[in-house]
Amino acid sequence: MPNLQATQIPVTPFQQNCALIWDADSGIGTVVDPGGDVPRILAALDRAGFTVERILLTHGHLDHAGGAAALKRALEERQGGPVPVEGPDRRDAFLLEGLAEQGQRFGIEGLENVTPDRWLEEGETIAIAGQDFAVLHCPGHTPGHLAFVSEALQVAVVGDVLFRGSVGRTDFPYGDTEALITSIRTKLLPLGDGIRFLCGHGPGSSFGEERLSNPFLAGG
Ligand SMILES: [Zn+2]
Repeated sequence: MPNLQATQIPVTPFQQNCALIWDADSGIGTVVDPGGDVPRILAALDRAGFTVERILLTHGHLDHAGGAAALKRALEERQGGPVPVEGPDRRDAFLLEGLAEQGQRFGIEGLENVTPDRWLEEGETIAIAGQDFAVLHCPGHTPGHLAFVSEALQVAVVGDVLFRGSVGRTDFPYGDTEALITSIRTKLLPLGDGIRFLCGHGPGSSFGEERLSNPFLAGG
């Protein structure tokens, strides 16, 4: 088994969990959802001490994606090679194209639009810290939201789809509550109660804990 380590850095005024996930044996890892506060992310990377293979985005919201372009530039200079930004699903392109404007609206400095080096789609497999994770399309919070799941490791990264005791908000013009709940019920929970997840805000949990106690999933 890999010697997988993870740490989360709350970034932006929205306290979004930027996740660092790495294999302490190979020294290779991944940054998920660098929404902003790039100097703090770089300082955490210094402490963790691994080479970043890619930057992954679960969805196109500013607190998840607003620092991706700046982090990519900084890492490529440090590491001397390409650090691709991958994901989310192409259906979040309209959000990534509006990050700078959204940042200004919320008074957050330094957020930039980003064009991923590669869009991801459900059915693909992506490496996180050298381990295979399935890409699942879980729309509802945003149209192109992705989750990354390793059944072998019993670990998932779910962004703003599912939280401990809550689910992602859907009160946006493009939000879809029914699609969100369907995503959780039909794609995530069937993967098994034992899967622990990291999420975009607050502490993580497990699919089993949420299946049993999450009020937004009651009655199903
Ligand atoms: Zn979001």
